[in-house]
Amino acid sequence: MTMKPILIHPDPRLKKVCDPVPDVSDELRTLAQDMLETMYDAPGIGLAAPQVGVLSRLIVMDCVKEEGEPPQPTVMFNPEVVATSDETNVYEEGCLSIPDQYAEVTRPKLVQVRWMDMDGREREQEFDALWATCVQHEIDHLNGKLFIDYLSPMKRQMMTRKSQKFKRERMRA
Ligand SMILES: [Zn+2]
Repeated sequence: MTMKPILIHPDPRLKKVCDPVPDVSDELRTLAQDMLETMYDAPGIGLAAPQVGVLSRLIVMDCVKEEGEPPQPTVMFNPEVVATSDETNVYEEGCLSIPDQYAEVTRPKLVQVRWMDMDGREREQEFDALWATCVQHEIDHLNGKLFIDYLSPMKRQMMTRKSQKFKRERMRA
């Protein structure tokens, strides 16, 4: 397995609408494993393919946070939200492409998601709480949308500037 460098906002590749995956090739399965490893190492609870510079509809997640609970690595190709609850939830979100910055985002509390798994099988499941927020955040990435796009223009600019600064410093290091 190979760790992938994570793109930092602003980057034009984080603003693109990604292409659907026609079928699950060995190459894509390897990419998904590499993305999981990169996500656990970061550490984070979700990662979308455009964040590692691949403009394909693929996300990985694991929102298990309790110590001692078994991990639940989840890989989704072509994930799609098919239904959402009217009830909403507010979570303080962060993003591996916008390091060390967090803001509250309101999203539907429950989402029904359809996707293709590692074996190319179609799956559908309802997600709640943190999993629901995470899957929506990751699917947004596949449509070129970041969590800061839900914030006021002023806040978004401020966070973009800080992220830009982080990127400059990292490149210099
Ligand atoms: Zn993100």
